[in-house]
Amino acid sequence: MSAVIMPLSAEEKRERNRLSQQKRRERLVEELGIEEFRKQVATQVKEYRAKKKETVPVPVPVENPERPKTVDGKKYCECCKISITRANWARHLKTSIHLKNCEEVKREG
Ligand SMILES: [Zn+2]
Repeated sequence: MSAVIMPLSAEEKRERNRLSQQKRRERLVEELGIEEFRKQVATQVKEYRAKKKETVPVPVPVENPERPKTVDGKKYCECCKISITRANWARHLKTSIHLKNCEEVKREG
């Protein structure tokens, strides 16, 4: 004779789960005392949070890729964020756009 075990419904499973968790907690409180139990729970929570933090990918701040100051006879203007040919460099430094950009860069720090 074999006993037929009725599968538990989702709700029954949840209830069983809840009860077993509660039982485990009650037993732990009995074993450890409420103070120690609370301490353990706090530690577990801390560990859980630390673990969670570890697994969450931290966005890596993208540094400005290092740009060579001079490329193929061009100079890179930090203020305007553009490359300018050496031939035009001296002229560029005097342009109002460049001066304005430099002012803004200075102001922003
Ligand atoms: Zn410039």
